[in-house]
Amino acid sequence: MNVIVKLNKRAKDYVDDAVVFADGEKIPTKLLIWTAGVTSKVFQGIPKESYGRGRRLFVNEHNAVQGLTDVYAIGDTSLQTTDPGFPNGHPQLAQVAIQQGKHLADTFKAMADKKPLKPFIYHDRGSMAIIGRGKAVADLPKPEMHLHGSLAWLMWLAVHLLSLVNVENKVSTLFRWAVAFFTKDQSLRLILKPDNEKRNANNPI
Ligand SMILES: Cc1cc2nc3c(=O)[nH]c(=O)nc-3n(C[C@H](O)[C@H](O)[C@H](O)COP(=O)(O)OP(=O)(O)OC[C@H]3O[C@@H](n4cnc5c(N)ncnc54)[C@H](O)[C@@H]3O)c2cc1C
Repeated sequence: MNVIVKLNKRAKDYVDDAVVFADGEKIPTKLLIWTAGVTSKVFQGIPKESYGRGRRLFVNEHNAVQGLTDVYAIGDTSLQTTDPGFPNGHPQLAQVAIQQGKHLADTFKAMADKKPLKPFIYHDRGSMAIIGRGKAVADLPKPEMHLHGSLAWLMWLAVHLLSLVNVENKVSTLFRWAVAFFTKDQSLRLILKPDNEKRNANNPI
């Protein structure tokens, strides 16, 4: 699809209509879409030392925030390096948040019942992404395999449809997808422009 993926590269700057990489490579362009940089919220009262990379809170194997008592963090906002499969922390994905949520509920129950606590271990069920009309990619961990094209696309549709909460949602979503597929009509249209009137009123200078 004429997309060049540059792995193990770090974009450092955008100057003089060129993206500059850490290794010195430059790509001249007048259009840059910057999509990296999801960071967590900073909460007052939580010590600076509890925050790690991307302002994520360091947590132990039970998701308790380091340096605090009775404070827990799960999902995107947590940085847990105790899981042997993820020594640099887990990826910020929905599955991690869901599994940590369930695990923390079990941890609280075990605490109440005075039972031994189990450390959190992430079970990677794979990742998939839609990359075009009728095209997707999927990496499955067990058995390890990579799928692409329409098979991966159908799998993406099935997985996302099945995870919706009730039959009404599933049917209405399937209907909307079918309409969008056949009409090629994009429902997402965002036009953003500065509201000059409001800006001038707030800052006449
Ligand atoms: C554009 C985009 C695409 C993504 N695509 C995928 C994908 O395809 N697959 C995937 O697995 N993951 C994807 N993710 C990541 C996924 O959305 C997150 O990993 C997941 O939502 C994390 O869940 P969470 O519960 O930790 O945080 P969130 O889902 O962000 O929930 C946090 C909630 O806390 C609320 N909140 C924040 N501050 C406060 C406050 N002070 N008081 C009360 N409430 C507060 C927020 O409003 C929010 O509702 C995507 C993320 C983005 C941004």
